[in-house]
Amino acid sequence: MEDKKVLSERLEPAPGVLYLVGTPIGHLGDLSPRAKSLLRKVSYIACEDTRHSGQMLKNLGVQGSLLSFHRHNTKNRLPKLLHLLKENQTLALITDAGLPGISDPGQELVSEARKAGQEVICVPGPCAATTALVSSGLPSNRFCFEGFLPSKGKARANLLKNISKEERTTIIYESPHRLIKLLEELASLCGHDRPMQIARELTKRHEQQIGPTIGKALEHFSKAKPIGECTVVLGGTTSPSNNEANEPNLLADMQALVAEGNTASDAVKKVANVTGHSRRHLYELLHSKELANDI
Ligand code: SAM
Repeated sequence: MEDKKVLSERLEPAPGVLYLVGTPIGHLGDLSPRAKSLLRKVSYIACEDTRHSGQMLKNLGVQGSLLSFHRHNTKNRLPKLLHLLKENQTLALITDAGLPGISDPGQELVSEARKAGQEVICVPGPCAATTALVSSGLPSNRFCFEGFLPSKGKARANLLKNISKEERTTIIYESPHRLIKLLEELASLCGHDRPMQIARELTKRHEQQIGPTIGKALEHFSKAKPIGECTVVLGGTTSPSNNEANEPNLLADMQALVAEGNTASDAVKKVANVTGHSRRHLYELLHSKELANDI
């Protein structure tokens, strides 16, 4: 067993193998000895941003050539990277931070490499999603990863609606300047009391956990502007008829919009756009409340 381990370490990197190498999401001490050794030995390293990774690689004494590989040049770069593997070169793929293939173009390269019959080996390392999940205290025996949500429109509304009904813990990546909008949308769909933990600046000096509910996270960020990198961990619904459970929140949101001077129709439209609920359903909800108040 020991001999086998030593042999495999000596043989790394093997020619023609695509190595996916996990790099730190903040703390540089999280780069594993195996990752360091491999990055020093390969002839080519594909990076999302060669300048961003350049400093870390320079500090490691890396000699290999850096090749940029990001979402804007994925299609053009793929043939070159596949050609290097075919030519039995040694190639590693890293991302700006964390595990390649999680919310970056890594997966496309892996898929094409496999189709071309090249071997793929992952040298595992930190990942913001799993680090946030295990630190959250929310159920981690079953979970979903959504990554970055679509920025707007029906696709976003539908996905948010599905996430609100999900029974498993859901992990979402979000940029700090859009975080409050996401929290407001989730509060409207899931209620302020839904368990949530936001992991901010994981593994860094100002690492912080914000929770334990959507309402408390909103309260926190109304006082402290969101900055730094954030991963949202949302507890699953415990209500089988999540829609009904949310009706008081939907109604409260529409009533607040009317109180701000919106017409009932505009209030319905706005809440429908954010939550993905049908306008008809929202009209009925608002109307039934108006009728109840009239009695
Ligand atoms: N490949 C990376 C991984 O393995 O986690 C994810 C890359 S994705 C482009 C970047 C997103 O990951 C950020 O917007 C943030 O949501 C999350 N993230 C990355 N580093 C983080 C950190 N130190 N703390 C919290 N979230 C982080």
